[in-house]
Amino acid sequence: MTQSPAKLNAFPVFMRVEGQAVVIVGGGDEAFAKARLLAQSSARLVVVSDEVAPEFAAWIADGAATHIDAVYQPSQLKGAALVFAATGDAGQDRTVSEDARRLGIPVNAVDRPELCDFFTPALVNRAPLAIAIGTEGAGPVLAQMVRAKIDRMLSPSLGSLAALASSFREVAEALLPKGNARRRFWREFFAGAPARAMERGEALAARRAAADLLGDTDAAAGHVVLVGAGPGAEDLLTLRAHRHLMEADVIVHDALVPEAVIAMGRRDAERLPVGKRKGCHSKSQAEINDLLVRLGREGKRVVRLKSGDPLVFGRAGEEMQALRDAGISYEVVPGVTAAFAAAADFELPLTLRGVTSSMVFTTGHDLKGKSLPDWAKLAISGATVAVYMGRSVAADVATRLIEAGLAADTAVAVVENASLAGRRKFHGTLADLPSLEERTDLTGPVMTIIGDAVAGANFEGSEPLVRRRGNIGNKKFEERVA
Ligand code: SAH
Repeated sequence: MTQSPAKLNAFPVFMRVEGQAVVIVGGGDEAFAKARLLAQSSARLVVVSDEVAPEFAAWIADGAATHIDAVYQPSQLKGAALVFAATGDAGQDRTVSEDARRLGIPVNAVDRPELCDFFTPALVNRAPLAIAIGTEGAGPVLAQMVRAKIDRMLSPSLGSLAALASSFREVAEALLPKGNARRRFWREFFAGAPARAMERGEALAARRAAADLLGDTDAAAGHVVLVGAGPGAEDLLTLRAHRHLMEADVIVHDALVPEAVIAMGRRDAERLPVGKRKGCHSKSQAEINDLLVRLGREGKRVVRLKSGDPLVFGRAGEEMQALRDAGISYEVVPGVTAAFAAAADFELPLTLRGVTSSMVFTTGHDLKGKSLPDWAKLAISGATVAVYMGRSVAADVATRLIEAGLAADTAVAVVENASLAGRRKFHGTLADLPSLEERTDLTGPVMTIIGDAVAGANFEGSEPLVRRRGNIGNKKFEERVA
């Protein structure tokens, strides 16, 4: 047995207000808040008050509303489509409400449900699309929370897309038979190429894509989004990444992306782990490229979820090349790269005024050869160096940089599992760095940051990389590396 929901005492409708007068009685904060809400419509706003707060007055003077600078009188309400009693005074609001009712005009009195004919919703505005959230006055905070959630889910360009849809409605109805074909058109319109073009801010391309769709009865075209999942904490996902995860048919993810992040995606999306963690390659890069191409050809909306930023040591170049060669549309959503997450955990300024103004992203794996890579010179000239996948080459990195002339006592910060609850922080000098290779207790991903800027970090909660005699804690890392 399904339980039928409780009855609504206030039924939501969308009321036409274009060009009509909406009168707000009051000049204080409550009146200003209502005025700002109503200003999202094309109604003619009229503010009645002989005492308007300065900020509100400036807003009105900007042309947002007409001001009747007079003591309230019932005649000022005549002809209005809606009235708001927002004087901040209970007796006065009651009078306004009674006057409006006598004139047959629906009225809302701020914070006095018993004087209200209607309630104002929390509003998600993607005009012409609107989502109104109401609680019959029971919980404005709840309404705002729901509003924020919905707002995050919807692309800012959805309004422009909805407006474009209106302009296609007639022709779609004329050209496409009712039923499947028309439904398919609209689904592709709102989720396919027209939506994507609008999201890029290309209204013309969106119109063209929609026109193409009208003539094309083929199955939907696939699309691959290379999404940066961030360093692991699910709330370091970007809003755009989250939106794509919610819309995906298939999520193809690396081993480094935690379950909590993948779980932010559509519940019934297919999930395909493709591994790639040191020592357990479950799929080769070529196989991953082929998989993405195949899914795209099948018309799937694919999210290729990569840890951190997809364009930093993520082999995105090869995947994009394969998609380009196969003629499959794709896009890239940036993410918070591990170096930034590690720096945040350490409160470490990656650039530091007067100390360092450049930064290197490296794996250190190119230090094995005879000739020194260019980035080593940058390190010596003071750049901050972030080493990805550097645990197994820590000794090489340290020895080669010291040989090349970087001081052995240059500060080093190491973070395991940056951004995650179980993160660990370590500090030391370049001379201590080789010890990292022997640490079997570090099983999570590790980020190493080298350079003078490291001295600006906060070493609280950080352990020394190497315990020396007389070195028990960190004494704020020897007074910030002397
Ligand atoms: N595209 C990713 C990097 C992939 S390479 C990004 O932009 O972050 C994988 C390496 O990233 C790991 O070996 C480790 O050095 C680093 N890494 C990824 N997540 C990390 C985390 N949460 N903490 C520390 N290092 C991390």
